[in-house]
Amino acid sequence: MSESSLIAGPTEPVGRGSMALAMTLPPWRAASRSAGASSTAAPVASTTTMGRARLFDHALGAYLGLAIGDALGATVEFMTKREIAQRYGVFRDITGGGWLKLKPGQVTDDTTMCLALGDALLQGQRLGRPFDPQLMAEAFAAWWKGRPVDCGNTCRRGIMRFLNDGSIAGPPSDGDGGNGALMRNLPVALASIGRPDLLHSASLAQAHITHHHPLSDAATLSVGAMLHVLLGEPEPALALPACRAIADALVARHPPMRFVPYPGRASAYVVDTVQTVLHHFFAANDFESAVVGAVNQGDDADTTGALVGMLAGARFGAQALPRRWLNKLDHQTRLLITEQTAGLLALALAP
Ligand SMILES: [Mg+2]
Repeated sequence: MSESSLIAGPTEPVGRGSMALAMTLPPWRAASRSAGASSTAAPVASTTTMGRARLFDHALGAYLGLAIGDALGATVEFMTKREIAQRYGVFRDITGGGWLKLKPGQVTDDTTMCLALGDALLQGQRLGRPFDPQLMAEAFAAWWKGRPVDCGNTCRRGIMRFLNDGSIAGPPSDGDGGNGALMRNLPVALASIGRPDLLHSASLAQAHITHHHPLSDAATLSVGAMLHVLLGEPEPALALPACRAIADALVARHPPMRFVPYPGRASAYVVDTVQTVLHHFFAANDFESAVVGAVNQGDDADTTGALVGMLAGARFGAQALPRRWLNKLDHQTRLLITEQTAGLLALALAP
């Protein structure tokens, strides 16, 4: 596939007739047009070519942005902000290396767990079992058996529990407050566009396979809702304020997540991750500065980079991704992401 086709993606619907990549009217706008509309009302569809192309471009931007942030940040994962500054000044090139000794452009568990989850969603569609947590757990187990380059402790514990006793949801645990469920939820957000009820249930289902913690749940749901706004709201002047309102509501419910003023911690604890991601996402006016800002905080830089890249990619679209980063990204990963993005949007918009 040529580079231009990887970026532009299909301009015609993929696989499911003329409605496949149709733009949906986001629920918050549908509700505003009908006083009695509930948040789960069926979205109003528009079939304009521009609407389809915009949705695909911004969904692809989110997924490729996640992979770029992962590949960039992995080099400086577990370094301190000061160590990064001393070694690189400002770290801004995909070079591989790091503690995982990656090839330039190679991604880590953030991206590969997303791809595993996305595969489970598409498999569920083929089998007539959409959003089945059993398939999600099986996909994570197969991913683990494929010897990924890394795997967080909480993810590993949850996958082992599933392999040992078939549990598709762990019990609530104070030890599950890491960012592993948050980092891999993008495929669920893509596959549930226009369906906030499904975003809620499927996000929690995939999360609880490994992470069952109120702060992990809240972050995963709120960031998923932010993605729906960024992807579904065609008016940029409305999308960012709507996103900010979701972030502010998250902080109001969970004050430890307050990211203004930014506390400066970027660990894998979901509170630190959310603060870093939201601070850099809202502080930047372009994709590159958002991602560079996050990864230069160090610590869990691949995951903060991935999540900021995901949100900024959803905001600005694939066309806005820096070419020098995109060209470095592992080619097979780009192909898989492009293919999966089209499939997940088709799943979201299937009748
Ligand atoms: Mg990682």
